[in-house]
Amino acid sequence: MRIILMGPPGVGKGTQAKNIVKKYGIVHLSTGDILRAEVGGNTELGIKAKTFMDAGSLVPDELLLDMMEGRLQQDDCKKGYLLDGFPRTIPQAEGLEKIVEKIGPKIDFVVSLTADEDELVKRLVLRGQESGRSDDTEEVIKERQQVYWKLTAPLLDFYQQRNLLHEVDGLGTIPEITDRILNVLE
Ligand code: ADP
Repeated sequence: MRIILMGPPGVGKGTQAKNIVKKYGIVHLSTGDILRAEVGGNTELGIKAKTFMDAGSLVPDELLLDMMEGRLQQDDCKKGYLLDGFPRTIPQAEGLEKIVEKIGPKIDFVVSLTADEDELVKRLVLRGQESGRSDDTEEVIKERQQVYWKLTAPLLDFYQQRNLLHEVDGLGTIPEITDRILNVLE
């Protein structure tokens, strides 16, 4: 099973992603987590990515596509994967299509979690206080939301046109939302 999980910052993608990959025994590929690990390791990619991430803007498409092309070819992805936070722009989605054409089975589902924007900002400010993630301050959160609506939301049409898109209500308890997603995938 190959899944793309989409949704605005704070909608709970990461939490839901964990539940889904556990159920299907597939790999969880969170580009946010991968990039944070690169930043933590002071790698060349991490150093390049950090300024963009701290500002709440997107890391350039080229860097993401190179990174994901390598990652998707690793053996553990053969059993399936869930993409969390990628693709985030139309060029990334087009690049992903090319990668997938080269390396094998198509994406099966795109699940988009939806929620009210004000609720999301509240949640993220709270998360920032708890997690200490450097990009979870109110100002950067608003910037990330805007980036989402401007650059990532157009992907909904992109995947709708390919008949892959499923919208799922992202408000409710964690298990309720997991069930809604599993209903789509089954
Ligand atoms: P969020 O909770 O805002 O969805 P993520 O943990 O997915 O955040 O990503 C954090 C940051 O990492 C983003 O604001 C962006 O700078 C960078 N990033 C993650 N995925 C991508 C991507 N696909 N393209 C460009 N930048 C990305």
